[in-house]
Amino acid sequence: VTESKDGKGFMGHSMLAPFTAGWQTTELHPLVIEKSEGCYVYDTTGKKYLDSLAGLWCTALGGNEPRLVAAATKQLNTLPFYHSFWNRTTKPTLDLAKELLETFTATKMAKVFFANSGSEANDTQVKLVWYYNNALGRPNKKKFIARAKSYHGSTLISASLSGLSPLHQKFDLPAPFVVHTDCPHYWRYHLPGETEEEFSTRLVNNLEDLILKEGPETIAAFIAEPVMGAGGVILPPATYFEKVQAVVRKYDILFIADEVICAFGRLGTMFGCDKYNIKPDLVSVAKALSSAYMPIGAILVSPEVADVIHSQSNKLGNFSHGFTYSGHPVACAVALEALKIYKERNIVEQIRSISPRFQDGLKAFSDSPIIGEIRGTGLVLGTEFTDDKSPNNSFPPEWGIGSYFGAQCEKQGMLVRVSGDNIMMSPPFIISPDEVDELISIYGNALKATEERVQE
Ligand code: PLP
Repeated sequence: VTESKDGKGFMGHSMLAPFTAGWQTTELHPLVIEKSEGCYVYDTTGKKYLDSLAGLWCTALGGNEPRLVAAATKQLNTLPFYHSFWNRTTKPTLDLAKELLETFTATKMAKVFFANSGSEANDTQVKLVWYYNNALGRPNKKKFIARAKSYHGSTLISASLSGLSPLHQKFDLPAPFVVHTDCPHYWRYHLPGETEEEFSTRLVNNLEDLILKEGPETIAAFIAEPVMGAGGVILPPATYFEKVQAVVRKYDILFIADEVICAFGRLGTMFGCDKYNIKPDLVSVAKALSSAYMPIGAILVSPEVADVIHSQSNKLGNFSHGFTYSGHPVACAVALEALKIYKERNIVEQIRSISPRFQDGLKAFSDSPIIGEIRGTGLVLGTEFTDDKSPNNSFPPEWGIGSYFGAQCEKQGMLVRVSGDNIMMSPPFIISPDEVDELISIYGNALKATEERVQE
């Protein structure tokens, strides 16, 4: 940990290496994590940290779930690998596809395609949608609408869909077929006196204007996270998704739900689509799908889209796409076991019963003079530091307020996600009441220290 030049900021590990998976070198003194246990991880000195972000919003069942280890070991001993090309596959791959289709009930889904990550899942979505429109004989319907501040991944295409400028600057992105519409953050962007419903109407009118400006015949799909994660935990305002869905349906635009963070219970419902009554055409999942024990992503495809792709009149031939590790048997065996555990332990109910303690406990700090907004639902929560409680009064970036808070948490044994002056938390689904209390207590101490730092 180092002090910033003006002595005001305080840089923890996260500040030294802003958004990047990190160059693997010891020069920046990275925090090296060696072991995990339940909701805790340990570094190489043996120091214990409450992992308030569940890795990267993903280790849903915590750090040492023996059933997941057993499922992986059994599959490794039986068939560590076979591919899923040319109508060959493995049993766990097929079983997981079936289980996923049964688990997603917001609307009927017909087919599953496997990838290795959320980014690959979203890239696959783009190819699928293009292929679908080519099969329908409308090759000009290829553009995607995504939202400012969304995060859909880091590959060229998923980074293009993302609405975060650090992912675009320096990389000549976004790709020209992506257009972005408003971020639905009520607190930050509503007009004086505007209700949430009115705000949603205004944003969806803007969306319709954008569709008309671009030409509805050129727009293929709209992609959205039910709750925006990496952009700062942004919840949809009242009536937003209802109105968005009406507009995209009107112009024959597919709706893609990026459930990479929201799926499997995070919001207190099995999927984000259940919570916001979203009836998507396509869905992306990853992360908690395997509780992060193995890399895996998947996309779910509606019967309508699948029918076009597989129809006799489709002259395009195979959907020529796939990865060596699509449907990897070990990843699928682990994911299958994770889904079994979510159901057996009624994880959604468990999250619903623990989340008021988590949400209310943290939102009680909303009065802090350095907090602009605390927002969240289920087991995901974001804190935004601003001066005077106003969305328009950011602290000078060189003060590193978010980083200072993150470093205080780290010092006291808790890891949080810091992004500028946004703090994000999404603990494992299995967090206990005592662990929630510990998380709140460390948060409170770190906040107090940060308030004092601002007043200095
Ligand atoms: N979509 C969302 C909503 C995400 O939060 C993420 C990762 O955080 C991704 C996609 C990309 O997933 P991955 O990092 O597995 O490629």
